[in-house]
Amino acid sequence: MSNGVGIVAVSHSPALAEAAVALAMEMVYDAPPTVKLAAGTADGGLGTDASRVAQAIQEADNGQGVVVIMDLGSAILSAEMALEFLESDIDVRLVGAPFVEGLLAAVVRAAGGATLDEVAREASLALGAKTSHLGESPVEPVDNTDAGASATEESASTHIRNVGGLHARPAAQIAATASGFTANATLATAVRGPVDARSPIALATLNARPGDSVTVAATGDDAADAVAALIAQIDQGFGEDLVAPAEPVRVAPRPAPMRLGVSPGRVVGRVRQTGARVAPPEPRGSIAPADRADAASRVDEACAHVAQDYRDRAQALVGERAAVMVSTAAVAADPAISGAASRLVTDSGVDPEQAVWDTVGQISAAYRDAGGVLAERVTDLLDVRDRVVLRLRGQAAPDFIGGTEPFVLVAEDLAPADTAGLDPATCLAIITELGAPTSHSAIIAREIGIPAVVGMTGATDWADGTEVLVDGSTGEVIVNPSDSERASALGRVEWERFAGPGQTTDEHKVLISANVGSARDAMAGVEWGAEGVGLFRTEFCFLERSEEPTIEEQIAKYRAVLSEYPNQRVVVRTLDAGSDKPLPFLTSPGEANPALGVRGFRTARRDHDVLTRQLEAIAAAAEGTNADLWVMAPMIATVEEAQEFVGLARAAGIERAGIMVETPSAALMAEELCDVVDFISIGTNDLAQYTMAADRMATELADLTDAWQPALLRSIALVAAAGKKTGTPVGVCGEAAANPELAAVLVGMGVTSLSMSPRAIPPVGASIASVTMADCRMAADAALSSPSVSQARSAAKLVLTEAQGG
Ligand code: PEP
Ligand code: MG
Repeated sequence: MSNGVGIVAVSHSPALAEAAVALAMEMVYDAPPTVKLAAGTADGGLGTDASRVAQAIQEADNGQGVVVIMDLGSAILSAEMALEFLESDIDVRLVGAPFVEGLLAAVVRAAGGATLDEVAREASLALGAKTSHLGESPVEPVDNTDAGASATEESASTHIRNVGGLHARPAAQIAATASGFTANATLATAVRGPVDARSPIALATLNARPGDSVTVAATGDDAADAVAALIAQIDQGFGEDLVAPAEPVRVAPRPAPMRLGVSPGRVVGRVRQTGARVAPPEPRGSIAPADRADAASRVDEACAHVAQDYRDRAQALVGERAAVMVSTAAVAADPAISGAASRLVTDSGVDPEQAVWDTVGQISAAYRDAGGVLAERVTDLLDVRDRVVLRLRGQAAPDFIGGTEPFVLVAEDLAPADTAGLDPATCLAIITELGAPTSHSAIIAREIGIPAVVGMTGATDWADGTEVLVDGSTGEVIVNPSDSERASALGRVEWERFAGPGQTTDEHKVLISANVGSARDAMAGVEWGAEGVGLFRTEFCFLERSEEPTIEEQIAKYRAVLSEYPNQRVVVRTLDAGSDKPLPFLTSPGEANPALGVRGFRTARRDHDVLTRQLEAIAAAAEGTNADLWVMAPMIATVEEAQEFVGLARAAGIERAGIMVETPSAALMAEELCDVVDFISIGTNDLAQYTMAADRMATELADLTDAWQPALLRSIALVAAAGKKTGTPVGVCGEAAANPELAAVLVGMGVTSLSMSPRAIPPVGASIASVTMADCRMAADAALSSPSVSQARSAAKLVLTEAQGG
């Protein structure tokens, strides 16, 4: 007969309970714990019954207490009520864990001989593996601080050899082995852990794959035996096929990032590194239980303070810089950081600085592993961490890069706060090791008119004061340039406001308008001579919101933009939530593949009402302004979606309804789409990402998402041709439109409007105004018949330079 902690599974469904328990029992090898079911009603129906739960608790108890795991709703009420029906005094823990994960964790831990509290805690952390894997919230690190400084310490390393890696079953086997020793054992990979080796849930969060190295460490009297047993178990491969030790599965080395010029201008200046990050916290002893609540509240205060600081800085900024700052404020305010760090303080007495450091470290590691858009956020996370830690130390946040001496800013990547105070008067250029044409640093550099090069490996090794020549048009960087090279610097590209109208020399009209996300951007557009707004990213107004904004709030935001453009076209895009722009009230976290998931118009599949209310707000906002309102939906993939959107827009009283072409499917169906919409706007950032199957934020794939990619150009041409054939206006509002030469090529394909960040308007306007429509067509033909990025770019450039008389 079993002894140890008993477990009761309470479910509405006997079939569900039996299957979940069977799955959990699969993870147990020697002595399974006592598990009793209280599932369904007495007459065999679906439901729960408090007296059955009470009976199951009594049967499960072996004298060491019972953990109860419930599914949902009345199962919880029945379990609570059952406690009142118990005839004997049994120590019971009701655990609010998800049913399947909680049962599995409790069963494995109980089988390992853990105490009632340990089993309950393991079960309550059961969702952590999944959420951590999906980058939602961290799993708390192990507290081994009670291990006694004098105890024996042992450690050894090996590689994971079984083909499946440390998935749930091997994790359960390790947990069972570790539970057989008195020593506290931990496992760590190079990037994660250490985690408690008795916790299968924590072990699974290591996400260790075949070939990964793992370190087993243990503290306690039988530490050496524990380490040896665990290493042997890992080496034996848990009964699975082994990968050959000589050929561990290795992750291919990361290719060097592509060095690219992302913001034009050729300047010479002296390097200024953004500087070292904040030093890690000094080791400190455990906080006394009586002082923990106060210490935890300091964490909450510091996070809230930093979030507010970001928000305040956003107020003083415009455009992308403000948007990026607002989204970083949301990171600082995220309970995934403050909540987890505070728990470390209250539960384990960890010093607040260390708690924040560890929590953000774990989230960053998970983000890095996840790659893509999440990996791009690590810079933001570390900036938040540093600022919170400085606040806890009572030190001021680092001042933004200022001073009066001109410099070339060099960084691994720019955190939003680094960019906030950048003054174009002193910052001559930006060089980053990471980044891509659509990364924050690139967009911001273009916005404020600073030459920039991204993907410059090794740049952070240069000493402050080193002289460099930076060409943000070609990506060329020369360290210690010669006199003649220095003389080749042309300086920053300075532009006057665009006087308009947008047209070729033979007066073929091309509307040149601004991409905006706020009223401030709208004003910047006016300042730079925009002839309207070609893309109003409405989601930028609400990035920080956890609840849907009211119709009145929306009207105010939209009207503030619309009223800047009397008698001019303003294209409002409905919320493009999802992927790298999650909006908590519209998108759900944890999608396995968010760029291909429920984003843009697809969010309306789940909830039409948010879109309907937004359309109502947009229509109302336009009333009382003289703006020419056009409204479009992002991420359209089918004709049915376009029809549905146009129907909803019309129902809201909107006359001009269109769509963005951002998916290859939409480009291929352009003609049919033109039949149902009033206009099309091509989002080349996403269209490049999806056409090339390359993350638009990935530095090392930046060559693939280059807007001169022939496949992208041909997709755009398809859409422009469909527009011409059907008389449907086709614009481009992605970053491609901001490139003066490419803009002329797009016009040559038949694109009727171009929209870009306000600062790009003068050079694009000047480029179009310097050539005829026939020149644009020739440049387009030259680019479209080229097989590669470089050939497309140089063929078009040749045509345009000759046309300009040069
Ligand atoms: C695009 O994808 O090109 C676009 C303009 O939309 P966003 O950059 O906002 O995704
Ligand atoms: Mg897009």
